[in-house]
Amino acid sequence: MKVDGKCLCGAVTYEAEVDTSKIVICHCTDCQTNSGTAYGVVAAVVDGTFKLRTGETRTFVKVADSGNRRRLEFCATCGTRIVAKPAEGEEGLISLRIGTATQRDQLAPIAQLWSRSARAWVQDLSELPSFETVPGAKS
Ligand SMILES: [Zn+2]
Ligand SMILES: [Zn+2]
Repeated sequence: MKVDGKCLCGAVTYEAEVDTSKIVICHCTDCQTNSGTAYGVVAAVVDGTFKLRTGETRTFVKVADSGNRRRLEFCATCGTRIVAKPAEGEEGLISLRIGTATQRDQLAPIAQLWSRSARAWVQDLSELPSFETVPGAKS
């Protein structure tokens, strides 16, 4: 599926084609820290289709416990994480953070990875009180 998207400040815009059969939730602790929340949701980008349209990204190379190196690319201005790529000179998948895509409603995950480090409460979200916006907000 062709997608496009942008970062929070709007400086970075991109387009890509993603494989909708490869969209996963990742509960690894790196995704928790990097996202600042409970888990990451990423889609596999079809080889050669990710194109940065505007803006500038910065890169942080994260070395996993496995020794695997990933280049995390994020907006240089607002820090929104856009993609993770294989380290320079290495083979591998580009994964797109689906929360930045215009088409995010159509990008549903098909599996959960690293469930052993998932937050204990994360499977029970539907049991929490739920508000359309925030309690007491004027709609
Ligand atoms: Zn930005
Ligand atoms: Zn992860």
